[in-house]
Amino acid sequence: MLRSEIYYDLWYYNSTPLSNTGFFATLLLSNDMILYIIATPIGNLKDISERALEILRSVDLILCEDTRVASKLLSHFQISKPLQSYHQHSQLTKMAYIVEEFKKGKNIALVSDAGTPGISDPGNKLIEYLISKLPGIKIIPIPGPCAATTALSVSGFPADKFIFLGFPPHKKGRETFFKELAQEEKTVVFYESPHRMEKCLEQLKQFLPTDRKIVICREITKMFETIYRGTIGDIDVPKNEIKGEFVIVLHP
Ligand code: SAM
Repeated sequence: MLRSEIYYDLWYYNSTPLSNTGFFATLLLSNDMILYIIATPIGNLKDISERALEILRSVDLILCEDTRVASKLLSHFQISKPLQSYHQHSQLTKMAYIVEEFKKGKNIALVSDAGTPGISDPGNKLIEYLISKLPGIKIIPIPGPCAATTALSVSGFPADKFIFLGFPPHKKGRETFFKELAQEEKTVVFYESPHRMEKCLEQLKQFLPTDRKIVICREITKMFETIYRGTIGDIDVPKNEIKGEFVIVLHP
């Protein structure tokens, strides 16, 4: 692919986008090295953006967590591109290889298995490394689905300030995690794996006030999407529904 990239930036400079002053387009020619950070669906494949597809079709190489997962997504959209796995435990040699690919003039995209790269997913370490090795590199976000913000958006809880805690620790520090939740004065969003969901519910009941409101989002955008609402004291996720993916949102 040619190194030159064309961007049409639409600048809406009036409060009403399509007013008579309208918008103007700027054309930018760039020879920069670019890493696109592309958000992909968290379930429903229709949630991918047009821009994400356009860029996935245009890059020379796609870095992904699991090549099998990325292949499924790409083949659904009839995109065929070289894939390279990149994950949280990738060695320096893999990152050095990516630097070399940039030096050869390749345009590269990074996707994770689902959602937004870097959010409890690989990406951050690579970005930091690339910025240190290739000072001119542009890191361009292609925003889209993220389980945390999607759950927050349906919670009805204050979201002008919130904290995201990723996954609770599996063993060491787990109890402290739940004790600290009890002190938190902002809306809290965190992820939990289905294997630890039952334990998580027990620990919430053990360490948090029973009247604290909670929303549990299961399998968002998928066939078995379920939103459970209640208080810590009365929330109930039936045992046979503790499967799939979960996001927990706690009221301040
Ligand atoms: N980067 C992803 C994002 O932007 O949401 C998160 C990746 S993290 C490794 C995976 C966790 O996200 C799952 O264990 C679950 O807690 C949450 N998750 C992802 N997809 C989900 C979905 N469709 N419904 C509920 N939770 C989901």
